[in-house]
Amino acid sequence: MITRDTIVTGTLPRISLGRFDEILALANSPAAPEAALAYRMVAAYAVDPLFALALFHHESNFGRAGICKSSDTRSPGNTRSTRTGSGEILHTERGPFVRYPSWSEGFRDLAYRLIDPTFVYRQNQRRTIAQIIPTWAPLSDGNAPQSYIRAVEDFMQRFQQPQVPGLDLIIDFIPLTNPNRPQIPLSPQWLTVHETANPRPGADAQAHRTFAHSGGGPEQVSFHFVVDDHVAYQLLPLDEVSWHAGDGPNGPGNRASIAVETCVNTDGDWQRTLDNLARLLAAICRMYGWGTSRIVQHHKWSGKNCPTRLRQAGWDELINRVRTLLDQPAEASARFFPETGQSIAGGFRAFWERFGGLPIFGYPLTGEISETCEDAATRTVQYFERAVFEWHPDKPELADRFHVLLRRLGAIAWERRQAQ
Ligand SMILES: [Zn+2]
Repeated sequence: MITRDTIVTGTLPRISLGRFDEILALANSPAAPEAALAYRMVAAYAVDPLFALALFHHESNFGRAGICKSSDTRSPGNTRSTRTGSGEILHTERGPFVRYPSWSEGFRDLAYRLIDPTFVYRQNQRRTIAQIIPTWAPLSDGNAPQSYIRAVEDFMQRFQQPQVPGLDLIIDFIPLTNPNRPQIPLSPQWLTVHETANPRPGADAQAHRTFAHSGGGPEQVSFHFVVDDHVAYQLLPLDEVSWHAGDGPNGPGNRASIAVETCVNTDGDWQRTLDNLARLLAAICRMYGWGTSRIVQHHKWSGKNCPTRLRQAGWDELINRVRTLLDQPAEASARFFPETGQSIAGGFRAFWERFGGLPIFGYPLTGEISETCEDAATRTVQYFERAVFEWHPDKPELADRFHVLLRRLGAIAWERRQAQ
């Protein structure tokens, strides 16, 4: 659930590269050819690419309107200054705007300014939609921040995907005033795996979340994530240092790695915990474009026998699981059509593409809906401009189990309005 308080920097993407690319391509955005590079640049700063896309949509309808189009600025955020140093200042009748050498450089600057330790957002810890937008698009510059916030919220709600597929991730940052949240900037290079070494029943992710929120004990420890057999918590933004590696205040473990704590409570299911750990590690590697060689044991930094159980058995298997997840192609996303605001997913999409696509069937007018068909059976159907698709799992003799009724465009649109 996306709200105005959703955290959008220092965390994992809420959209896959494939879907990001698809939305820009289907909108005929001039940035579409650079979508993959743009996504990677934003994700590598731990800024949610879905948030960047929502800004791009609201600022210029993906580069198809306003100053972005008229002055060819290649600036998804319509920025008036550059934080990365890339781009040149244009002086227009609406004041200064940056023109970037490429769309991906425009996206990189959009993301970097949000986590630049010397700039307003990071310095004031503005990390949610409602905290960022009034600074991004201030009233004083003729904007309407409240409606901008709602537009971003709606866009993200509509297109969001899980941050860690198959695992519930709760973002719950340690309070800024805590001694175990030093707020030192972090550019992560490694992913350090720990075990909590606390076998006590109930010593799960939630219990360690409470431990970290209450100061992290006398040693004031902290970690970015803690995972158990049913949930993971993110306790620190990915652009902030945590104290976890035991290699001193300037050691590379503390200063250049992300910490993941693995619960070993005896009332937890260890295999499920490992499965969740693998999913989390894969999602983090994917966001930074890393291979599994970036995943290391706490032992590497201080010689401590941690993660104890995994060092005894299962480490190589864990790494292989992460590798398998990383090798999987991005999920088959629904194809979205901004023209009608509808998508085609799964089997309907395969059928639509295989038997003629847009020229034959037209755009989708609805999503998948349940409807009573001519034979009185209730089926999943989807309306297109020139056809209605019916799913017939009971009739394998039909081509790919879909049944297509061709209807006139006007008639369908009229019938559906009557039905509502
Ligand atoms: Zn450890």
